[in-house]
Amino acid sequence: METFEELRALARSFIEKEVRERLPEYEAKEEFPWPLVRRMAELGFLGVVVPEAYGGVGLGYRAYLALLEEMGAYASLRSVMSVQQSLVATPILAYGTEAQKQAYLPRLARGEILGAYALTEPASGSDAASLRTRARRVEGGYVLSGQKTFISHGNVAELFVVFAKTDPEQGARGITAFLVERKDGVRSTPLKGKLGLRAADTGAVYLDEVFVPEDRVLGREGEGFRIALSTLDVGRLSLAAGSVGIIRRALELSLAYAKERHQFGRPIAGFQLVQEMLAEMKVDLEAARLLVENALAKKEAGERFTLEASMAKLFASEAANRAAYKAIQIHGGYGFFEEYEVARLYRDARIATLYEGTSEVQKLVIGAHLTGIRAFASPHPGLSQDGGPERRA
Ligand SMILES: Cc1cc2nc3c(=O)[nH]c(=O)nc-3n(C[C@H](O)[C@H](O)[C@H](O)COP(=O)(O)OP(=O)(O)OC[C@H]3O[C@@H](n4cnc5c(N)ncnc54)[C@H](O)[C@@H]3O)c2cc1C
Repeated sequence: METFEELRALARSFIEKEVRERLPEYEAKEEFPWPLVRRMAELGFLGVVVPEAYGGVGLGYRAYLALLEEMGAYASLRSVMSVQQSLVATPILAYGTEAQKQAYLPRLARGEILGAYALTEPASGSDAASLRTRARRVEGGYVLSGQKTFISHGNVAELFVVFAKTDPEQGARGITAFLVERKDGVRSTPLKGKLGLRAADTGAVYLDEVFVPEDRVLGREGEGFRIALSTLDVGRLSLAAGSVGIIRRALELSLAYAKERHQFGRPIAGFQLVQEMLAEMKVDLEAARLLVENALAKKEAGERFTLEASMAKLFASEAANRAAYKAIQIHGGYGFFEEYEVARLYRDARIATLYEGTSEVQKLVIGAHLTGIRAFASPHPGLSQDGGPERRA
């Protein structure tokens, strides 16, 4: 595969020929769609950002975001690509040793193993620095104990990027990132009954005195929170691109339906109130895409893009919810049935304003950048939630 136009074309044909027909079965059963995930791996979709030297496709983040937009409307599959690349391959590329890169990136890129990013815990969500998982120093490595929850790929991953406290006294500066393998002794249980992302795997993850050798520390000891946050910059940007995909599909389906459905003797697309909804969706689509481009341009220039990623994620995820809502409105009662794709868009859009930092957290990140004052200073000393200098309100 040479260009990202080819990647887009591959994604469109994959969606057309395989995803549309087969994904609903897995969604209905809340089952992880292994055959479709294996196809994505064969097509190179899991290794777009991984350089060829490490077994990836090496097309970079621009191509990756374009792919996420294409796959955005099939969020259970889009999320597999996002977790694998934004949340696992990206921090290994940025902070891993050569040996760690060689050990994991080719297998991740080829989809031989899936990865997971384990930050959230039952008592620590938005306030991620308050995590309680503990990593105790022992000879030759560390022993990890604790519980993580809501972990995407929790039950299907072989590799976990786990954030744990090596020095609880140091607050956020006492957090370290570890590359933990399932075979080290990680246990997990599925979390079923999600409103959306029904074919995506989510699990609770248990670390019960799990020994991890010292060469599996990712980055330096105490650098974990910085790694977690810089990883989330990429995660937020990719979620924004996925949300653009939801808006695009919601508009596409709404336009087609509005032209075909007749009431009062003419297509409903001819009514001004329906056109208003379509026009708002179109403006949201273009604005969200431009915010993604804005953040990507900064990333490509090698600049910090925390603010831009937060703005893109906030706007695009909220806009995806608005668009999915309107899409159902335009479909009338038919849109309320699963048979129509807009119902899934509506359910899947909902998670986008919650994970990788809620909309409120994004606003606080943006507010902190504007004012230099953090409204969400936690009692945990050290780094701020957006990785910037700590200054409390
Ligand atoms: C399907 C799914 C998949 C997920 N995947 C992963 C994953 O792979 N890895 C991972 O580590 N985590 C994952 N998460 C966790 C997700 O990132 C968290 O759910 C999210 O960060 C919010 O945390 P919380 O649910 O504990 O909510 P809370 O932090 O308890 O927030 C509850 C409400 O309070 C608000 N709030 C909290 N603090 C403030 C504040 N200072 N000011 C204003 N409002 C505030 C929030 O915005 C929200 O409205 C996933 C979650 C879900 C549902």
